[in-house]
Amino acid sequence: MRKLGGVRAPHRKGTADSAPRPIPIPPEIRLPMSMHIGAPAKPIVKAGDTVQVGQLIGEAAGFVSSPVHASVSGKVKRVDEYDAVTGLGAASVVIESDGEQTPYDGLRAPELSDMKSFLDAVRDSGVVGLGGAGFPTAVKLTVKDVSAVDYILINGAECEPYITSDTRTMLDETEMLEEGALLLQKYLGVKSIVFGVESNKPGPIKKLTEFASRRDGIEVRTLPALYPQGGEKVLIYQITGRRVPEGKLPLDIGVIVLNCTTLTAIVKYIRTGMPLVSKCVTVDGSAVINPGNVVAPIGAPLAALFDFCGGLKDDVKKVLMGGPMMGIAVPDTDMPVLKATNAALAFSEKDALLPAETPCIRCGRCVSHCPMGLAPLEFERTYRLKKPELLEKYKVNLCMECGCCAYSCPAKRMLVQYVKLSKIMLREYQAAQKAAAEKKEAAV
Ligand code: SF4
Ligand code: SF4
Repeated sequence: MRKLGGVRAPHRKGTADSAPRPIPIPPEIRLPMSMHIGAPAKPIVKAGDTVQVGQLIGEAAGFVSSPVHASVSGKVKRVDEYDAVTGLGAASVVIESDGEQTPYDGLRAPELSDMKSFLDAVRDSGVVGLGGAGFPTAVKLTVKDVSAVDYILINGAECEPYITSDTRTMLDETEMLEEGALLLQKYLGVKSIVFGVESNKPGPIKKLTEFASRRDGIEVRTLPALYPQGGEKVLIYQITGRRVPEGKLPLDIGVIVLNCTTLTAIVKYIRTGMPLVSKCVTVDGSAVINPGNVVAPIGAPLAALFDFCGGLKDDVKKVLMGGPMMGIAVPDTDMPVLKATNAALAFSEKDALLPAETPCIRCGRCVSHCPMGLAPLEFERTYRLKKPELLEKYKVNLCMECGCCAYSCPAKRMLVQYVKLSKIMLREYQAAQKAAAEKKEAAV
């Protein structure tokens, strides 16, 4: 096997011992209909409607989509167009909270009898990949032939610095993880369920191992504390030795990966009928006065989370939604917590300054640290040369934008930004190629 790359970034998991505390319900929340990969949900409420916690306010608009539920009780203030942090403009529902948090009186725990009823429950729960990906979980679990699924991997690696929300799930909701694994065994009939956890989380490993040792077909695998062990393809390779070929999905090689918090969110819905309406978020960074884990209603402004953690220091310069390696810098703290938000980080000026780029010295560190075996320096060169056909050859679409290349580069080249630009260039090139081929075919 080829040695995996990756980097030993400082873990900075200072909030791991911080049990999540609920924030006060903000006076207003905003629920974007596009918090997942796929078609945005379709709003089914209008200004003036009264809503309760857990009430459906946005219907899934197709197979690859996910419903959205009210996270506070109160009155719909408006339905408007909003550019969420995903960059995809879609409708959003703004709700004025009444502060009561009244649960929707139509909530019922689903009745499970077979695989279909289980998958229906997962779909109705509004759960999407909570590790950051946001892919609708019901779609991931809907497979034509379950006998072809050899493994479900439960991702508890949580390899990005600072983030500890999954660590809290594994510590505080261990029995739900056990229940979730048993549900997957029962309704999907999967042969092997493996929890993957980095070695820097001895507490979660101990608790998971306690129940896994009592159960057939469930095991816990300790992974090296090396970023990005939690990257889907890296996790699959580490645990199963299998590689996901370019253009294929984990399912094509008999594997499904679920984040550990995704699994507990499904179990919560199955136990109570309460869909996904709140999220544990790690609030940390050098500009946060009292870092910690919080539970926030989905749609709460980031500002409410920072305020609960003592506020931000005067020299705050950069705010990230997500971790420092793969998170997205946001323009202001009005941005709402999304379903897949696992961290809100704020950094002081000294930690937010981007170092000046210097010329590439062709040291090859970006190549040796790339977990996908790519040549990141070539993406920058090829993008500048405007040679999209070479980007295809260099397999830019295999890049998972983990940032290991940029992190290890002594010249501080902005390699991930070039990857993103290269992917856009390649997509446009391939679309133009396709259009030209179709035109040619139509002319024959
Ligand atoms: S790590 Fe940086 S300096 Fe070294 S080859 Fe890659 S891009 Fe060039
Ligand atoms: S090229 Fe992509 S996958 Fe490889 S290290 Fe850079 S960001 Fe990660």
